[in-house]
Amino acid sequence: MNGMKRIAVVGASLAGLRAVEFIRRAKFEGEVVLIGEEKHRPYDRPPLSKEVIRGEADQERLALRRKSYDELNVELKLGQRAQSLDSGAGEILLQSGEVVPYDGLIIATGSEVRVLPNQPSLQGIHVLRTLDDALAIRAALQRRARVAVIGAGFIGAEVAASARQLGLEVTMIEALETPFAQSLGPRLGRILQGAHERRGVRVLCGRRVDRFGGGHLVESVWLDDGSRVDCDLVVVGIGVTPSVSWLDGSEVDVEDGVRCDETLATNVPGVVAAGDVASWYNPLFEERMRVEHWTNAVEQARHAVSTLLAAPGEAKPFESVPMFWSDQFDIKIQAAGKPKPGDELTIARRGPGDEKLIALYSRAGRVVGAVAFNQPPKLVQLRMLIGKRGGLDEALKIVDS
Ligand SMILES: Cc1cc2nc3c(=O)[nH]c(=O)nc-3n(C[C@H](O)[C@H](O)[C@H](O)COP(=O)(O)OP(=O)(O)OC[C@H]3O[C@@H](n4cnc5c(N)ncnc54)[C@H](O)[C@@H]3O)c2cc1C
Repeated sequence: MNGMKRIAVVGASLAGLRAVEFIRRAKFEGEVVLIGEEKHRPYDRPPLSKEVIRGEADQERLALRRKSYDELNVELKLGQRAQSLDSGAGEILLQSGEVVPYDGLIIATGSEVRVLPNQPSLQGIHVLRTLDDALAIRAALQRRARVAVIGAGFIGAEVAASARQLGLEVTMIEALETPFAQSLGPRLGRILQGAHERRGVRVLCGRRVDRFGGGHLVESVWLDDGSRVDCDLVVVGIGVTPSVSWLDGSEVDVEDGVRCDETLATNVPGVVAAGDVASWYNPLFEERMRVEHWTNAVEQARHAVSTLLAAPGEAKPFESVPMFWSDQFDIKIQAAGKPKPGDELTIARRGPGDEKLIALYSRAGRVVGAVAFNQPPKLVQLRMLIGKRGGLDEALKIVDS
């Protein structure tokens, strides 16, 4: 197996843990070390903005691995940040000063939240990425806070829905013309805005945060049109950036994440990347992309391991149809593909109240994206069709079947 004796995986979350599991499944018998900045064992993030902040799931249910870690024969270094990489020497320097040598390296450091340019450190202003963030938000929701969510992307909208499900007063503020305008386009954005409004969320679009009011605790958000939203809890959900600062000064190419080729290999031999942090050329869509969703992290972990362990010249391209889900109130939104502004949008089925919608995005007759509300089996079929470069006519047949 490439003569490798020791593989290091940096980032002990979804992609990192799955990579360790795939390494052992591939019968690699050398040493494996998993390094993670968080002190918790790898846990699942999607429930954080849903069951966890609503108080419906405890920490144990989030564990990404229920079986023993002993079976994996992995050295766990948790609560340890990788500070820098010397790929020439094959060494990772941890913040503690410890040096971890490796022959093969998997970078799975994921992403970290963006904050507003002038975000003050008032109590009551939160972001949501980690379990600790979620527990702090849950505690505030239990105090019956009035909630302002800044950013109507998926995390923001899930937080807004969860808080509303707890019966709280919720305002969601978005700078663009509709929620989800970038990911789904304004037409579907408006439909989802309506779904939130009908369930009692106040949605303010086309407005930016000017400043926050309050002394020690946050009391209000002032918007650029001069209006004010009174609140006790603010959740800022304005997106993430790839966690690559520890690679500064290393030889690994970084450009909107770790720059990989189509096999998930970086420019440095013996170094691959997977998950939110990896930017790669996806031959299926003939473009470079980086995907910040759960399924991608698992699929890339498997593929990055196979690339790392492949004989020279044998690594295969990672051709993938990105997909994600988001749960908001009683709507399970699922999407597959990689639509772009300018693609043709066909709303193929729309039940009463939009709870059974399917939307298709096509480009020159080829279906490149699909969104389904509450119809998982259809989405699975449509994802497969997108992977086969299928046409809009075939997609419509799936919708009607
Ligand atoms: C609240 C929330 C809800 C979500 N809901 C959904 C959903 O419904 N559907 C969906 O498809 N996706 C969802 N996602 C996205 C999904 O969870 C991510 O795509 C997935 O976690 C990516 O996994 P990852 O392992 O690549 O990165 P991450 O989960 O970001 O993990 C990276 C790990 O690396 C660690 N790390 C970073 N830098 C260093 C360093 N220098 N040294 C050591 N460790 C380091 C980090 O602390 C982190 O633990 C959600 C995300 C969040 C935050």
